[in-house]
Amino acid sequence: MRALVLDDGVRFRTAQPRPVPSPDEVLVRVSCAGVCETDLQLIRGYMGFRGILGHEFVGVAESGPYAGRRVVGEINCACWRCETCRSGLPSHCPNRTVLGILNHDGAFADYIAVPQKNLHPVPDSLPDEVAVFTEPVAAAFQIPAQIPIARDARIVVLGDGRLGNLCAQVLARRSDHILVVGKHESKLALLRTLGIATALLDGALPDRAADVVVDCTGSETGLPTALRLVRPRGTIVLKTTVAGTQTLAWAPFVIDEITLVGSRCGPFDEALAALARGEVDVRPLISERLPLSAGVTSLERAQAKGVLKVLIDVEG
Ligand SMILES: [Zn+2]
Ligand SMILES: [Zn+2]
Repeated sequence: MRALVLDDGVRFRTAQPRPVPSPDEVLVRVSCAGVCETDLQLIRGYMGFRGILGHEFVGVAESGPYAGRRVVGEINCACWRCETCRSGLPSHCPNRTVLGILNHDGAFADYIAVPQKNLHPVPDSLPDEVAVFTEPVAAAFQIPAQIPIARDARIVVLGDGRLGNLCAQVLARRSDHILVVGKHESKLALLRTLGIATALLDGALPDRAADVVVDCTGSETGLPTALRLVRPRGTIVLKTTVAGTQTLAWAPFVIDEITLVGSRCGPFDEALAALARGEVDVRPLISERLPLSAGVTSLERAQAKGVLKVLIDVEG
C-alpha cells in the first residue's frame, strides 16, 4: 500500500506492507486524513516516533460490527487489563500505543489497523472533510470535561492556529468572555466572523485578568505568556506539546496559586454530536487538500504562514 513514513525524514512509499490487524483490531480503509501540529512536532523529533504518521482520519471499516460504514477512531490503544485501564482511564494506559504517535502506525496510508473499541460510526450527514476533524474537536471538548467553565468566566485562548480556533469555538458556547490572542490577522479575522473577540499578541492585553488561559501556541513562549495573563488563583490549560525542554521560573505558580492543567485527548461522542449539530464550524479551517502521493508537500504546507488545516485525500 501507499504510506507516508517517518524515519530519518518523511518519505512517500508505494510498497509499504498493509498493517496486519490483531484480533481486537479492524482494518480501516482511509478516505481522508488531517495534518496536525503533533505530526509536525514528531518530524522534529518529539516522542522519537518512527513509522507511518497521521492520527486524524476518517475511513471505512473493512470488518467488525461497523464493516462497510464510515468510521473515525480514538487514537489511544489501551490494554484494558491494567490497573489504570480498569480504573477507567484507558487513555492513560501505561501499556498503550497511540495511532501515528507511539509504537503504532498511523493514518497517512491506504489502510490503518484500529482497535474495534476505538471506532465511532460517522453520522451520514457529516461529509469526510468535516468528520476528519473529530479528533481535534474532541481534544477541544476535553477542556470543559476537565475544568468547570462558568458563563462569566474570562477565558483567553493563546494561539490562532488549528487547535486554538477549535478550542475557542467550543469554549465560546460555554462562556460569554472568550478572547483569542494570536499573531496572524487573517486567522483572527476568521474567528471574528464567528463572533469571537480577538487581539494581536503584541497589542495591549490585560495582565493578570483571565480566569482561564488556554495555551494552544505549540511554542515554548506560550506558557510564560499564559502566566502573565492569568489572574491569581486562575487556571492555565496546556493543550499543545512542545518537543524539547522548557525552562521557566516556577515561583509565580506558588505565589499566585496558579492551577496548571495538562489537557490531551477528549470525548469523540461529544465531538461528533457537536459537528453533526453544526456547533463547530470546521470548513473555514481547511486551507488545502492534497492527495496522499503529495504527502510530503502536505506536511510542508501545514507549516506555511497563513495555512490552517491541510487535508490529505487518501482515496482516489
Ligand atoms: Zn492531532
Ligand atoms: Zn492498560
